[in-house]
Amino acid sequence: MMQDTSRLFYGSRRRRPKLARAEGVYIDAVDGRRWLDGSSGAMVCNIGHSNPAVLSAMRAQMEVATFGYRLHFETEPAERLADRLAGIAPAGLGRVFFVSGGSEAVESALKLARSHALAIGEAQRWKVISRFPAYHGCTLGALSVTGYAPMTAPYAPMMAQMPKVSAPRAWLDGLPLDDPATGHHYADMLEAQILEEGPETVLAFIVEPIGGASTGALVPPAGYMPRIREICDRYGVLLIHDEVISGGGRTGRFLAADHWGVVPDMITISKGFGSGYMPLGALIARDTIVETVLDHGSYPHGFTYAGNPLACAAGLAVIDEIERQGMMENAVAMGDLLHLRLRAMMQRYEIIGDVRGMGLLQAFELVSDRATRAPLPKHLDAYDRLTEAAYDEGLIIYARRSRGGHEGDHFIVAPPMIVTLAQMDEIMEKLGRALDRFTAECGL
Ligand code: PLP
Repeated sequence: MMQDTSRLFYGSRRRRPKLARAEGVYIDAVDGRRWLDGSSGAMVCNIGHSNPAVLSAMRAQMEVATFGYRLHFETEPAERLADRLAGIAPAGLGRVFFVSGGSEAVESALKLARSHALAIGEAQRWKVISRFPAYHGCTLGALSVTGYAPMTAPYAPMMAQMPKVSAPRAWLDGLPLDDPATGHHYADMLEAQILEEGPETVLAFIVEPIGGASTGALVPPAGYMPRIREICDRYGVLLIHDEVISGGGRTGRFLAADHWGVVPDMITISKGFGSGYMPLGALIARDTIVETVLDHGSYPHGFTYAGNPLACAAGLAVIDEIERQGMMENAVAMGDLLHLRLRAMMQRYEIIGDVRGMGLLQAFELVSDRATRAPLPKHLDAYDRLTEAAYDEGLIIYARRSRGGHEGDHFIVAPPMIVTLAQMDEIMEKLGRALDRFTAECGL
């Protein structure tokens, strides 16, 4: 039962049922209600809840040590997890810096890039170009490269103003996704921005290889990712792939950028590779960058819980489970099916304007007019109402306003990678009922 009051506060006064137990793709509340976790929390719990192998690895580690401060000790789980990540990352990216979440990983990347510029005598480089919309975290540094107005605008005076280029929203602009000219069109905006800023002042470009919260699983058009790499190389700009959501296997590759074979200079990961068993994140960096920075002095940055042995033991067991259970293969099979079924829903619901994503990172966007892609009226708060309608049906999905947070509504459907065919049917049934209720209530 819900307590009358709560001392906790987050973003709003909205209260939620109390969680009783989470297992597999389901979460039960103490009042007996059950939800299918169709977004893995916030695209976190990639392997599903309460995986027995991960829990037993954590129990075993707990018997040994739950904390070892990085300035005092090295720990076996942190060393092994760093080896594992270096083995997964492209050749040349072999150094790992552990953190406790995505925002910390992004902060660490931005600061390592700056330390590198200082180490090579390019102190004038400090600008980090990012995309609009984009989401890279809510600490002030990560927020400065985020493109989502409701979260950035209130804090703008407190942040360095970082340049933005348009995210490659081909569907919205009516451009063909599979034409490399489309990818080049958007990538060339980066080059124009670098030239406008003065190339000697530009430190890095940060990009979500497949978009998350702010763009709703945006997949870059053909030609985009390789062209971005070329442009960064041309101007000595470091390329940071933010794989906090897209990493961890749900797109069918452990790192989403591997779909394009593009190698960045740094990678940030967090959510899926720890799957929520413990707070865990990492910055994976090019060996040469780290060596140059350390040769020059030190990297004056770090968090108390870095490399926590319990978190790292959980992370290792998560990666083992992804491999042992063939979860990435399931993510491809179920993800393809999910995509097709969401597309099929477009026949029944005129308001679904686009379906996009890869593997089990799928999203759909609502519109008032498919031909013009005009959004639904803002006052409808569709992103919230449809999500709540699904919640009432026992299905969790994840929604945000599209288009920089100003208007538009997209919904991410990203169940754990262990989702079965029967559970996919359940997702679609519940989503259908939620859409029926939402469209009836809004007269759409
Ligand atoms: N980067 C990306 C791409 C994200 O999607 C997020 C969170 O959604 C973050 C960074 C921030 O991660 P965290 O909320 O763990 O700080």
